[in-house]
Amino acid sequence: MTMEQTIENKPLNSEYIFIVRCGEVALKGMNKPYFERMLLERIKKLLRKFDGVRAYRHEGLIYVRADKSQDKQAIIKEIGKVFGVASISPAMECESNMESIGRTAVEYMLEAIEERGIKTFKVEAKRADKNFPVKSPDIARQIGAAVLKGCKVLRVDVHDPDVRLFVDVRHDLSYIYQDKIPGYGGLPLGTNGKGMTLLSGGIDSPVATWMMAKRGMLIEAVHFHSYPYTSQRAQEKVEELASLVATYCGRFRMHVINLLPIQEQIVQNCPEEETTILVRRFMMKIAERLARKTDCDMLITGENLGQVASQTAEALVVTDASVTMPVMRPLIGMDKVDIMELAQEIGTYEKSIEPYEDCCTVFLPKHPATKPKLDRILHSESKLDCEALIQAACESEEIIEIRPA
Ligand code: ATP
Ligand code: MG
Repeated sequence: MTMEQTIENKPLNSEYIFIVRCGEVALKGMNKPYFERMLLERIKKLLRKFDGVRAYRHEGLIYVRADKSQDKQAIIKEIGKVFGVASISPAMECESNMESIGRTAVEYMLEAIEERGIKTFKVEAKRADKNFPVKSPDIARQIGAAVLKGCKVLRVDVHDPDVRLFVDVRHDLSYIYQDKIPGYGGLPLGTNGKGMTLLSGGIDSPVATWMMAKRGMLIEAVHFHSYPYTSQRAQEKVEELASLVATYCGRFRMHVINLLPIQEQIVQNCPEEETTILVRRFMMKIAERLARKTDCDMLITGENLGQVASQTAEALVVTDASVTMPVMRPLIGMDKVDIMELAQEIGTYEKSIEPYEDCCTVFLPKHPATKPKLDRILHSESKLDCEALIQAACESEEIIEIRPA
């Protein structure tokens, strides 16, 4: 892309400019162009809701330009939700010569003084264009001098400045910025297969889903209910929760399954203390079947070692044995407080803690088996027509399109 195309003859700095840095994406060697393209696609898609915003790649960075009528913070927030983005810097642009860089740096700092009353600064410079006649330390010194001259209230502080002013000298244009607002990192969506996530209305499974999507995995979801023991409102809550996750991972389909007939059969035919683990195995089997039908590579759950009776090591072994597809449990070794903190950070926590009933709490045994044995569980299952039950459950599915909130 030529500069003419990128700046479209608009006067410099008549628009907001954001420099977006890819994290790990940059490390992918031969795949780098592919990852960058995927990342750019995601950024473009998420920014579509802002009129006249443009994103493009140039010299190894991604640039976003937006009309100044747009909400700058909202754009930053949106870019920050794109997996694969390491950091974002709102920047000012100028021609790559010392006079122009100096003038723009002064303008930038005058704005910072007015907005935040800063007193000290330090300039850090780097040349992507090694033919630029001034070396980086000299750029920093000379631009520092220009800022001191143009902004009388400022002093230089090289150790703990209020503002670290970055000057990035590139071939045609140079960029001046201060903040590097961190993104979540990870890998662009769509670069790592597709997972069928078992999504409840709880705290854990939305976080688990988010973590896998962050590694580039596309999402498809399954939710189980026990209507009429669980309410319509409880399901709506899950849909709302799913919509929050979709603000990161894009729209996805959620398969909704009524588990009640299976739960009733288990309660009538199997030992009470095995109810939970048996129900969990059915959930996994149904999820696996839906996963194969929708080209998913793996299952995702919010299970966490030792959190509840159905997540002891022994219970996880028995649950795992119900399927052959790999099961991703990204929260397995985390502490609950850390999961809760992450849920808050990504914005799902408040919705998750809304008190609605879940299918797992229907027919909850008084003393669930914490050390189930697979042979006993298989024996109990042999009393059920598992295949017919699974098939009927799959046939009852309702598919809901989840859109970003
Ligand atoms: P969460 O906070 O995600 O509900 P949890 O700590 O309540 O998890 P469990 O109820 O034992 O744990 O569920 C473990 C995992 O099983 C969940 O993280 C989720 O992946 C899946 N799961 C539980 N209930 C449902 C459901 N109703 N629909 C779909 N998946 C479910
Ligand atoms: Mg739950």
